[in-house]
Amino acid sequence: QAKSQGRNCYALFRPELEDSAIARSQLERDFRLAISREQLICHYQPILNATDMSIAAIEVLVRWEHPKRGLVSPAEFISVAEHTGQVVEMSNQVFSMALASLADWEAKGLWPRSAKIALNVSALQLARDILIGQLKSMGDRYTFSFSNVEIEITESMLMQDAEESARILESVREMGLSISIDDFGTGYSSLNYLRRLPINVLKIDRSFVKDIGHDRSDEQIINATIDLAHNLNLKVVSEGVETETQMAFLKDAGSDYLQGFHLSKPLSRSAMEEWLESESRRKAGIQGGKLDVC
Ligand code: C2E
Ligand code: MG
Ligand code: MG
Ligand code: MG
Repeated sequence: QAKSQGRNCYALFRPELEDSAIARSQLERDFRLAISREQLICHYQPILNATDMSIAAIEVLVRWEHPKRGLVSPAEFISVAEHTGQVVEMSNQVFSMALASLADWEAKGLWPRSAKIALNVSALQLARDILIGQLKSMGDRYTFSFSNVEIEITESMLMQDAEESARILESVREMGLSISIDDFGTGYSSLNYLRRLPINVLKIDRSFVKDIGHDRSDEQIINATIDLAHNLNLKVVSEGVETETQMAFLKDAGSDYLQGFHLSKPLSRSAMEEWLESESRRKAGIQGGKLDVC
């Protein structure tokens, strides 16, 4: 079960204990140490342009480097951290690590001008109206451009307080960030409602992608979603692309961007930096080639 939540991640608890109060309070205590001892790390997963497979964005995914159990998946701890409010401090650390990386990659000339770093935002950061303040303080601490930052929020989060969410998202956009809707298709929002929010990207949930080639209705949902999104001037990311068949279908359906294990698993910071280095060498090579032709 843990394996299905992402490779290199291992379940912290046996599933049968997951709901027990004891396991939960143990996890809360452990996670408090994770935060104070800085055991959280970021992995980075490329999101590629479907047309030329260049980097469009990099999604930041938190992991817990547990001293005894190795790398723990966020699926194991996010909901508890939201419940206790620890997710706020977690996110301070994650944003800080990720935006320090972005600043570093920009300074080294490795960051493609139009690429975004995509940060997952929790419901609590919106509900308590701390997101804007958090982003501003990151802007004071590190030198990067907000136009290279994207936030990912889920549909269900928006529905909790629609007017309040809209107000916060407007401010986020005014700061220059872009906004994407994560796990699209799993919530209840209508596209008519989304149309009134300042959104740039829809991420089609991987539950639709996984049955491409087997489930005609999932394929139809994907086609319809892409068409509607494009009519509303939104770009589309397809999540969870694991096979060549899925990739071919999604390219053909007009998905603007692709993300998934078939393209790249989430990478450590140093592995991501190597990817960016080879990408920038490749581009220099292409430009060098053009110069030779001239
Ligand atoms: P998400 O934002 O929808 O992230 C995508 C998840 O799908 C990630 O799982 C990623 O590793 C996984 N994934 C990517 N490609 C594939 C694929 O081809 N096949 C499969 N089976 N999975 C794939 P991960 O890293 O375990 O994260 C799970 C969820 O935890 C995320 O879902 C997000 O909701 C949450 N999360 C992760 N990092 C953060 C964070 O920094 N802050 C907050 N608030 N939530 C986070
Ligand atoms: Mg996400
Ligand atoms: Mg998702
Ligand atoms: Mg299905």
